[in-house]
Amino acid sequence: MVLLTSAIVLILTSAAFTLYEVMSFKQALVRNASVLARIIAENSSAALAFENSQEATAVLSALKSEPEIVGAKLYDRKGALFAHYPATIQSALLPDIDPRQAGYKFENRSLVYFQPVQQTDSRLGTLVLYSSLQALYTRLRLYTFIVLMVMGGSLLMSYLFSTTLQKGISEPILGLAETAKVVSLKNDYSVRAPKLSHDEVGFLTDCFNQMLGQIQQNREELRAAHEQIHQHAQQLEKTVAERTVKLQQTIGELEAFSYSISHDMRAPLRAMSRYSQILLQDAKPKLNGAEQAYVERIIAGAQRLDRLIQDALSYSRVARAEMQLQPINLETLIHGIIDQYPQLHPGEAEILVKSPLHKVLGHEASLTQCLSNLLANAVKFVTPGIRPHVTISTQQVDSQVRICIQDNGIGIAPEDKERIFGMFARVNSEKAYEGTGVGLAIVRKAVERMGGRTGVESELGKGSVFWLELKGEEK
Ligand code: ADP
Repeated sequence: MVLLTSAIVLILTSAAFTLYEVMSFKQALVRNASVLARIIAENSSAALAFENSQEATAVLSALKSEPEIVGAKLYDRKGALFAHYPATIQSALLPDIDPRQAGYKFENRSLVYFQPVQQTDSRLGTLVLYSSLQALYTRLRLYTFIVLMVMGGSLLMSYLFSTTLQKGISEPILGLAETAKVVSLKNDYSVRAPKLSHDEVGFLTDCFNQMLGQIQQNREELRAAHEQIHQHAQQLEKTVAERTVKLQQTIGELEAFSYSISHDMRAPLRAMSRYSQILLQDAKPKLNGAEQAYVERIIAGAQRLDRLIQDALSYSRVARAEMQLQPINLETLIHGIIDQYPQLHPGEAEILVKSPLHKVLGHEASLTQCLSNLLANAVKFVTPGIRPHVTISTQQVDSQVRICIQDNGIGIAPEDKERIFGMFARVNSEKAYEGTGVGLAIVRKAVERMGGRTGVESELGKGSVFWLELKGEEK
């Protein structure tokens, strides 16, 4: 950079200086030629007036004493050559020229100067002087030599100077760059750049080293914080794992407890129901209408409680059962269910199975329970007097098989669509449609445990499509 700048400055300076020299030399040359031309013209005016060419030649020969004047020509008023200097004209040196010009021009390595020869007001002829530019060229050669010498010397000086400077500036900066490289390659923030000077670069090195120090400190703090978080996380995981084990134990105990309670409750319930029925049969004549109705209520209540307990037991069975999935032929399974439930027989309802149904992977007992619940609901929740129509179909949804059960029932309001899958959730009154509100909760739990999903699409009064998605059988 230093060398380039010096070279450019030197070249521009030398060019300007040389140009100035050439111009002033030329001006001096013109001035000299004009003085000489005027003297010679003055002296030769008489010779021209009397047409004495010998005298004119003698006047011109006085130019001998001016070495830079290489020739002169004197023309008469008609433009004919009247006299010349030197005696023999070398036409290459002094080319023929139109004498009616004025002023001067640089031509053919010489300055050509035109001087009119006058007497009072009349023009007698023209004197043309040829001044050599040889001196200018000699001078130019000398300048070129000097410029080259100066440039060579200056460039050498600036080279030496910049090499010395480089030590002071580049070395510390290269040291900084080297340190930065080590930091980024080895990710090691403990290295420091060497401080080689006490100037701005030294200050920069200090700042850089300080920055490295701060980063190193931050990283150490971060590492410590990381370590702490990691320890906390491990502690937390341990606590969660311990609590989960405890919770699972508790849940297991609770489940076992509720299962046995439910199970054990059924025996006294059945006794209540049974003895109430015997009471009704044996003591009927002795009981008045109201008393009979009370006993009937006891029987109905006991039976309802028994259904509830049965459903709760089914739910807990589904929730606890081990779900070994296996390929299931849906058509066989569904026809089995239809045969088993009288309310699904052709006399009661119209059930259409859209064969062929896809095969699914599921737990047979749980899937039977799910489909029984859905089919029973499909024929149950229908406006009285209307014959239930149920269509069972399957479709492939990505890798899953969706089983759809479509009915022409009373439909479900949008706000109830999710709620009805909850435990004991019912929409209609017990009087209108019997039930415990556990059926759909069992369906959701069982399908969830088989790795699938459940849902419903429905509009009030327009029937419903209950669906469940299970893995399809792998081919
Ligand atoms: P349950 O049938 O014993 O009432 P479910 O859990 O099977 O309990 O159903 C919950 C509620 O969802 C039902 O009370 C009913 O209001 C609604 N529901 C279920 N299936 C249908 C259906 N196919 N059409 C209309 N409503 C239904």
